[in-house]
Amino acid sequence: MLDEVTNTSKLFDQARERLSLAAEYLTIDPDVLQKLRYPKETLSVCLLVRMDDGSRRSFKAFRCRYDDTRGPTKGGIRYHPAVNIDEVMTLAFLMTFKCAVANLPYGGAKGGISVDANQLSRSELERLSRAYVKAFAHFIGPERDIPAPDMYTNSMVMGWMADEYSAMVGQPSPAVITGKPLELGGSLGREDATGRGGYLALRHLESDLHLVPEKSRVILQGFGNVAYHCARLLHGDGYKIVGVSDSRGAIYDPDGMDPIAIMEHKRSVGTVSGAPTNGTCKEMDNSELLEQDCDVLIPAALEGAITNQNAHKIVAKIIVELANGPVAPEADEILDKKGIIVIPDILANCGGVTVSYFEWVQNKAGFYWDLEEIHRRLESIIVPETRHVWSIKTEKQVDMRTAAYILALDRISSAIAAHGTKDYFAS
Ligand code: GLU
Repeated sequence: MLDEVTNTSKLFDQARERLSLAAEYLTIDPDVLQKLRYPKETLSVCLLVRMDDGSRRSFKAFRCRYDDTRGPTKGGIRYHPAVNIDEVMTLAFLMTFKCAVANLPYGGAKGGISVDANQLSRSELERLSRAYVKAFAHFIGPERDIPAPDMYTNSMVMGWMADEYSAMVGQPSPAVITGKPLELGGSLGREDATGRGGYLALRHLESDLHLVPEKSRVILQGFGNVAYHCARLLHGDGYKIVGVSDSRGAIYDPDGMDPIAIMEHKRSVGTVSGAPTNGTCKEMDNSELLEQDCDVLIPAALEGAITNQNAHKIVAKIIVELANGPVAPEADEILDKKGIIVIPDILANCGGVTVSYFEWVQNKAGFYWDLEEIHRRLESIIVPETRHVWSIKTEKQVDMRTAAYILALDRISSAIAAHGTKDYFAS
C-alpha cells in the first residue's frame, strides 16, 4: 500500500528505518541520507508474451537500480506472483547494503516478474525471460547493472538472458549477468555460494555464540538450493539437522536427519514431507516448524516469516537469515529482548552475490579460477566482514543487523562524500 504523502510503501519505509537507525551511530553528512532516500531509477514495464496455445499474455515486470555510488548495480531477478514494485525497490535497497557489507565494488539493484513460473511451459518461460531482457536491455549492462538469479530463477534462465543480451549488442557479453551455466561462462562455486556464505559466517562466530556443533540442533525453513547446501555443510561438521520445510509441508525429528537423503526424497516426490529421518518424525505445517525446539533457526524462504505474531514463540538462540528480509522489522525488537542473536540477511546471505562478483571478474578477464580458489576467496571475504560486524556490535552495544548497517552505511557514505559534501563546498 502506497503512502499518499511520501509515495512510498510500508515495506520500503520500514527498510529505510533501519538506515536511520544505523545513521545515529555515525557522523554522516545529511547529503548522504538524502541520496539514499529514494532509488536512482526504477522501471516498470508490461511484457506481452506468446503462449503455447497461440494467445498472448501480459506480465508486469520491474527493475530498480537503487544506488550506484560504489559501482555498477547488482542484484537478482525474481519470478513470483507476489512481485511488485515496492518489493523490488526494497530488495534493491537491501542489495545496496549487502554489497557494501561484503565490500564489493557494486551498488544495489533488483528485478522481478509477477508470474507463477510453475504454470508456464519451458518454452513460455524462455520467451518470457528473453522478453524481459529485450525490455530492459538499455537498463542493464556489464558496466551498468548486472542481474543474477533470485527466487524461482536459475542458471538456465540466466543463460537465456545472457544469450538474448549478446544477440542484441552483437557480441558475446557474458558479464551482463551472473549465475549462468558453467558452459556459458558461469563460475564454479556459484551454486552453493549463498548457503556456504551463511555456513562460514555461523562457523566463524561459533565461540562468540557458545555453539558446539555436536550439541547444536538446526531447523531450516524453505529447503531449496540455498538451505540445502547450508544444511549439508553444517551436517558435515556435526550439527544436527532436526527440521526442514518447503511450501508443501514441514518435518521435525529431534533425533536428526541427513540433508542429502532429504533432498533426494524432495527431488523424487516434490516435497520434504514423508522423507526418511533418524527417529520418529513429526509432520507439521511450515509456520509451526519455526516454533520448534532448536539452537539455530535458518529462515531460507520468503520475507516476513517471523513477525510480531510469532516472534515471541521462537525458541532458537540464533537466527541465520538466508532469505532476504525473513524477520520483519517489528519482530527485531522482540527477538532482541529475548536475547536471540540474528545474523542479518545482508551478511548471512551475501555469499551468493560475492561469488557472482567473482563470476563477473572472471568473465571480464576471460580467465577462470578453480573451485579451491573460489572457496578461498569467498572465505577471505565472509570471515573478516563477519568479524567486522561482530566487533561493531560489541563496541556499540547494538544488534548484529544494526552493526551490519553501520558498516555498510559507513562505506557507502564515504564513497558519496568523496564527491564533496556540504562542508567541503561551503568552506
Ligand atoms: N539474488 C541474490 C541475492 O539476493 C544474488 C544476487 C546476485 O548474485 O547478484 O543476494
